[in-house]
Amino acid sequence: MTYGHLGSILKRRIETKFRQFFIEPFHIFEMESSIVTPGKVFEASGHVDAFREPMVQCAKCKKKFRADHLLQEQIGLSDTETEKLGLPEIANEIQQNDIKCPECQGKLQRPKYFMTMFTTTIGPYSESVGYGRPEAAQGIFVEFKRMYEVARERLPFGVVQIGVALRNEISPRQGLIRLREFTIADIEFFFDPEESRCPMLAEVEEDTLHLIPAVNKLKGVEEPVNIRVREALQKNFIREEWQAFFMVLAKRFLNELGIPDDKQRFVEKLEWERAHYSSQGYDQEIFLHRWGWTEVSGHNCRTNYDLAQHMSHSGVDLQVFKEYEKPIRTEKLVVEPIPSEIGPTFKKDSTRVVAALKEAVVKDVESSLKENGFFMAGPFKILPKHVKIVRREIEERGRRFIPHVIEPSFGLDRLVYAALEYAYSKREDRNILMLPRDLAPLQVGVFPLVTKNGLPRKARAVQKMFREVGLLVEYDEAGSIGRRYARADEAGIPLCITIDYQTLKDDTATIRDRDSWKQIRVKLEKMPQQVCTYFLHKNDFTHISGKNTCQQ
Ligand code: AMP
Repeated sequence: MTYGHLGSILKRRIETKFRQFFIEPFHIFEMESSIVTPGKVFEASGHVDAFREPMVQCAKCKKKFRADHLLQEQIGLSDTETEKLGLPEIANEIQQNDIKCPECQGKLQRPKYFMTMFTTTIGPYSESVGYGRPEAAQGIFVEFKRMYEVARERLPFGVVQIGVALRNEISPRQGLIRLREFTIADIEFFFDPEESRCPMLAEVEEDTLHLIPAVNKLKGVEEPVNIRVREALQKNFIREEWQAFFMVLAKRFLNELGIPDDKQRFVEKLEWERAHYSSQGYDQEIFLHRWGWTEVSGHNCRTNYDLAQHMSHSGVDLQVFKEYEKPIRTEKLVVEPIPSEIGPTFKKDSTRVVAALKEAVVKDVESSLKENGFFMAGPFKILPKHVKIVRREIEERGRRFIPHVIEPSFGLDRLVYAALEYAYSKREDRNILMLPRDLAPLQVGVFPLVTKNGLPRKARAVQKMFREVGLLVEYDEAGSIGRRYARADEAGIPLCITIDYQTLKDDTATIRDRDSWKQIRVKLEKMPQQVCTYFLHKNDFTHISGKNTCQQ
């Protein structure tokens, strides 16, 4: 996948907008971590076992295909239906429906799973396996402790990572929609499951969402319900308020990229369609002319799954401590080390043993001592003589727990595609890219009417004037003015300024609007200010013709 000059700027502008929309207004922090990640991270997260797709190979031409996609294309099974099938059922469908290789009509072999993470080795050691990250989320989870400090140890808070994700897709074939290397924007929003209310819900609860909840999907209902967020929560269509909050933001964000509400919907994943870490998940889909309903973002409740997995695999405590307003006194069973026994057995490791016992869950110690005759506190074998389990009255200052997570996850390349599709329009046989103005790669075009009599010099000065206020300006003197407007419309430049002979006399120039093709004459000295206001405040074009302009 390659973006050219305008494409790269468009993608960057979408990223900027994402930051303005999701990061800056909230308690959300950004971070960056590496793409090639030690294998242990993805063993802990469950991806090594679960990140795979069914694949089938042609015995004759040796081409390989996504087995589930073949079933969808050739016998019309839906995504939901194929997600449910294991390898034996897929093999069965292939056999019963006599599905052949779509390339050469050869016989297909038995399907197998193919792991869709890119595998590599890190450094010169073949045993040191690494994976290209298929999501940015794990980089956030393994840095949770530090990011929690950055957030001043206050919940809720979010961490976002925007960066490259790698997925070794079996047969991509859909341009920007299915890439092996794409830009992902993952927000992991951490909250206390016992205080899961979203204080900003009031700002979104009157919004309506087009939802296809799992209950309806199971009944075969394909039409979305158009439902207010408050009601969707009451009906338990969406279980977590934070999830609903981010779904509304996602809808509004897509609106700002030019995709109206009626071309958007949220489809709940059924139990067997959900990723291994998800307890509830919705895909945000938009309608694309060529690809039909297409997922652009996933909204999952990841519970405490990832942090708990990393905690148990790494031994690092990822719990947070939340202080009660007033300490409470309770009676509890506790594990008390017996120093006169621990010392002689563990010698210089005694302090580590005591620390490990402090972290141990009393019930686990009790049952392991009873059933096995010992308990493993990390690497230390604890025998019944080393500890006593007693009931004590203790003062608790607070609670320790692993935060829960809501994850909105966007694929930025799909958003680029969507913004382009919705901006593309035609008028009088001319292509116009009606991108929302804050996404337009180039913001202003400056054209000298002719390339003589001092007009190019004046136009260059005007170009400089706009550059100095931070706008991206295209200077074009090639061809007729009509051709230049047409090129600018096609590139989505919202405003074009033409420098003509009158400019040399009274320092005014015409500004032309891409969408209405209207033109007005404006004093040059006022122009940068007015044009900046137009870009910043989204005033409509006619605003530029306010009191600072001379007559048209
Ligand atoms: P997922 O973790 O599979 O829900 O993916 C998160 C988002 O990444 C999706 O909603 C898509 O927008 C995007 N995405 C997933 N796979 C690809 C791909 N192969 N190429 C481009 N974008 C993708």
